Amino acid sequence: MVSREVQAHDTVVRFGNAAVGGNKFAVIAGPCSVESEEQLMAVAEVVKKHGAIALRGGAYKPRTSPYDFQGLGIDGLKLLQKANHQLGMPTVSEVMEVSQVDLMCEYVDCLQIGARNMQNYALLKAVGESKKPVLLKRGLSATIEELLLAAEYIYDAGNPNIILCERGIRTYETATRNTLDLNAVAYLKQRTHLPVVVDPSHGTGVRELVIPLSRAAAAVGADGIIVESHLNPCEALSDGHQALTGPMFEQLMQELKPFVEAA
Ligand code: PEP
Ligand code: MN
Repeated sequence: MVSREVQAHDTVVRFGNAAVGGNKFAVIAGPCSVESEEQLMAVAEVVKKHGAIALRGGAYKPRTSPYDFQGLGIDGLKLLQKANHQLGMPTVSEVMEVSQVDLMCEYVDCLQIGARNMQNYALLKAVGESKKPVLLKRGLSATIEELLLAAEYIYDAGNPNIILCERGIRTYETATRNTLDLNAVAYLKQRTHLPVVVDPSHGTGVRELVIPLSRAAAAVGADGIIVESHLNPCEALSDGHQALTGPMFEQLMQELKPFVEAA
């Protein structure tokens, strides 16, 4: 169902006043984790001012170590909702388990399935039944075919509002956190009508590489990016090393202008 052979025209996924897919390059931005009201509101204002169409922020965090910050949970969801109400920015946040789906649907506009859960089929079915827009991230070691089949689970459960996300894969290379697979973006754009976004933050894991790889994403034909930003990355509770500062986010948007403003 997600194949271009079934539907030739591009799917545009809408949530709130955001649209992903079609001619405009969509920038979704915000912190890795929601940490506090002050942190979230401050960064949300900055990314909105410079042209982000939606706010990202994790309330439930899939951390590699159980001793790392696990997210604010429901309090984080409430802050995301508040930011949306105050700024008019729809929100994207990760759902980690089936039991969280209904609750998250009340507070956020788009459900993220994280890389670690791409093959959690019960979760894919649950978000499919929810009908909320879903941002589906490629698994750390998943093939493109497996990503498409994961999307098929969501579609088959009744939800066609799916955004695919290339967020870097595991390779032998260790200089960067992951290897951003731009082949996958070009390939996916040919195979599927679903919008495809790139996550250059997790794709590289290095703040200084985020802007160049964002340009690359736009050049290769992605429908947008989801990018981490933090006004004080040194103090971030997760992924500070890959977060764009406020001035860097402004620079990113300057460089993406021709794509963001395309008719
Ligand atoms: C995230 O978006 O913060 C995240 C944990 O992403 P991924 O699932 O791609 O690792
Ligand atoms: Mn992160």
